[in-house]
Amino acid sequence: MDETARHTIPLGRVFGIPVDLDYSWFLIFGLFTWMLAVGYYPQRFPQWSHVQNWLMSATSSLLLFVCVLLHELGHSLVAQRYRVSVGRITLFIFGGVSEITAEPPSASAEFWISIVGPLVSLAVAFLFGQMQQLTVRGSALYAMAGYLWWLNLALAIFNLLPGFPLDGGRVLRAVVWGATNNFRRATTIAASTGRFFGYAMIFFGLWSVLRGDIVGGLWIAFIGWFLESAAAAQIQQTLVKGLLVGHKVSEVMNRNFLSLDGAMSIADVVEHHVLAAGRRAFLVSENGHPAGLLTLSAIRHVPRGAWPTTAAAQAMIPLADAIAIPSSAELWTTFEKMGRDGVNQLPVVEEGSVVGMLSRDDIVDYLRLLQQISG
Ligand SMILES: [Zn+2]
Repeated sequence: MDETARHTIPLGRVFGIPVDLDYSWFLIFGLFTWMLAVGYYPQRFPQWSHVQNWLMSATSSLLLFVCVLLHELGHSLVAQRYRVSVGRITLFIFGGVSEITAEPPSASAEFWISIVGPLVSLAVAFLFGQMQQLTVRGSALYAMAGYLWWLNLALAIFNLLPGFPLDGGRVLRAVVWGATNNFRRATTIAASTGRFFGYAMIFFGLWSVLRGDIVGGLWIAFIGWFLESAAAAQIQQTLVKGLLVGHKVSEVMNRNFLSLDGAMSIADVVEHHVLAAGRRAFLVSENGHPAGLLTLSAIRHVPRGAWPTTAAAQAMIPLADAIAIPSSAELWTTFEKMGRDGVNQLPVVEEGSVVGMLSRDDIVDYLRLLQQISG
């Protein structure tokens, strides 16, 4: 995906890892700055001018995100030590996230990659605590160090809650995984406690709203909702993976796909093959050789009025541009890749020639079947 689609601003690289700023970050940066400028600093420094107050508030929340970045760098650098590749670090509305794509190679790797983030936050909190001791009581630096001490401590403690996707949830998964040798079971347990904490935060947040703390309460409920949905998605993913692992693309692909002549008009394809036969993807041949793939989304790209005059060959995705997969490929990894790339149909090849078509719908049907026979 390109940067515009990701809604992020690249900030550069730290230790070779790209760091991005998601647009949603500005919202949380603004919220923290505002909370500091109306509550924290004016209480301690009523003599400050507006400019001084807002400048200190903005600097403090900017520093907070430097601390969040340090926390994420902790995760990323330890991941790299375990040879787990790190895609990027993104700062966004809920703090930071390290894009660690592969699953951890071992329970101990998962344990150390996860726990190091909160440990970094604790260390940073300790440093700000020391800094506060060294600064003059009641000075601006004293107040800022105090704020960053408290927030880094809170960041460490919150992230240690034992529910996935929080760091503590990953630590829990690593421990259960190490003890039971069952990664799936460990994931389900950690994600279920994650859902519990998510719901607890939603209820607590709404309760706070009812008691009058509208901004704080909504914020907590919002984080709870985010945690709950991430945990639920993880459970779903683990379930799907458990069912699909070990199966090959060849078991699900459709071998009875239709090969169309490239000269056929889109209008004819839609009338005779899509609407009449319920087919969703076709191989298009030119001069007797497979040349491309015609899918529903490729058809949708052609304005309806042009269907009678557009040939299948004009609307198809050329085979050279379509990513073909071998029929021996793992079904789970292929399914995951299709989801990530937003692809609904793939041509399946054996020894260089197209032998079938794999669609997400086929995989979902197959999943339903597997679920039914596994009870
Ligand atoms: Zn973390």
